[in-house]
Amino acid sequence: MIEFEQACDQIFDHTRCLGSEDRLIEAAVDCILAEDITSTINVSPFRNSAMDGFAVRSEWLSECSEDRPLTLAIGPTTFAGDTTAAQAPALQAPKVMTGAIVPPGYDAVVPFEHTAYDDREVTFHQPIAPGANVRQPGEDITRGQKLYSRGSLLGPLDIGVLATIGKRTVSTYRRPSMLILGTGDELTSPGDDLVEGRIYDSNTFTIQALVSPFCERVERVCGVRDREQEIEKALGSTHDIIVTTGGVSAGERDLVVDMAEATGWQRVFHKVRIKPGKPIYFATRGRQLLFGLPGNPLSTAVTCCVFLIPALKKMIGMKDYRLALQPARLAPEAIRKSGRKLIWPGLIRSEAGQIVASFSPKKSSAALTALQGTDGLVFQSATDENRENVRVEVIPWDHILKS
Ligand code: AMP
Ligand code: MG
Repeated sequence: MIEFEQACDQIFDHTRCLGSEDRLIEAAVDCILAEDITSTINVSPFRNSAMDGFAVRSEWLSECSEDRPLTLAIGPTTFAGDTTAAQAPALQAPKVMTGAIVPPGYDAVVPFEHTAYDDREVTFHQPIAPGANVRQPGEDITRGQKLYSRGSLLGPLDIGVLATIGKRTVSTYRRPSMLILGTGDELTSPGDDLVEGRIYDSNTFTIQALVSPFCERVERVCGVRDREQEIEKALGSTHDIIVTTGGVSAGERDLVVDMAEATGWQRVFHKVRIKPGKPIYFATRGRQLLFGLPGNPLSTAVTCCVFLIPALKKMIGMKDYRLALQPARLAPEAIRKSGRKLIWPGLIRSEAGQIVASFSPKKSSAALTALQGTDGLVFQSATDENRENVRVEVIPWDHILKS
């Protein structure tokens, strides 16, 4: 049996980034950039109008007021999409629509609603500042501006930014394909009738929900029966990662470890000194990874969070893939005796500038509802004494689940 930190190191040692590929930007949400993104254009690319209105020279209107209006002939119109601005004779106010090129020589646009106009003439009643309602080239983004660094996570709000600088594809790190196998003769798919002696499979759903943002493709198989042949067949798949649940403890039908090793998987470790999740098994076959997660539902969720997700983050090129544990103080009398490192869901609160943690009151690793209402995971070193002011480490859920 190894310690938690050793297990993490061994997993990372065997986890390689999958390399990069070009993706269409609309398919790049939740992907990690494998390139720096620098704009090759100005945005706006050209000087254009921010309003529908009349282009003017601001100096013409400098003396304008309600009492001293200025009336000009209306010049030809430039529409958004016109590739040249309509030329206007001197002392005319050409019409420009939002997004249209502002004709050269004009430095402001007066919105229609601030003027009085008919078919031929427009009257202005107030001055306008130079540059008003004119978008300058590069006003939002300048040519040569670096917008994203390699290793950044692309979110839904980034896709439009890539489009606006003309990117059709981006180089991103490949995301793995994953097969999730729920092993156990007792498993029933949610939605089916439950008969005596059976339970619903929750683990494969827990895992799928947790890993999906980091994976290209997730296949989920519930109810792989505890039979050598069935497990052997399932473990033969070619996915980048296979995750099993159940069947890695000491039961007479816990066959995952034996069948893995009979099908070419090389053990990296089996059993880690943690609670929950002690029986976890980790193996490799060529570039493939196998995570044998324990069957108890809380064990599955916790081991998925602390081992599988960080490995996925490394695989897809995220820089900060390790769990960023923060020091905290355990709430008075919250200490739980355990011969193993306890990694339990709990509350993480700030009190007088200190982080204070406490454990979920549910103490069974079968109780998935221990997760409900908690803020994250609390790590307490093994201890057999009751002490005050115990130092622990914590990590909030959102740090685990995203960057
Ligand atoms: P095992 O490690 O296979 O002995 O499983 C440990 C416990 O977890 C048993 O009570 C199983 O019934 C339960 N269990 C195993 N797989 C699942 C699953 N997919 N969903 C919910 N509970 C499970
Ligand atoms: Mg089982």
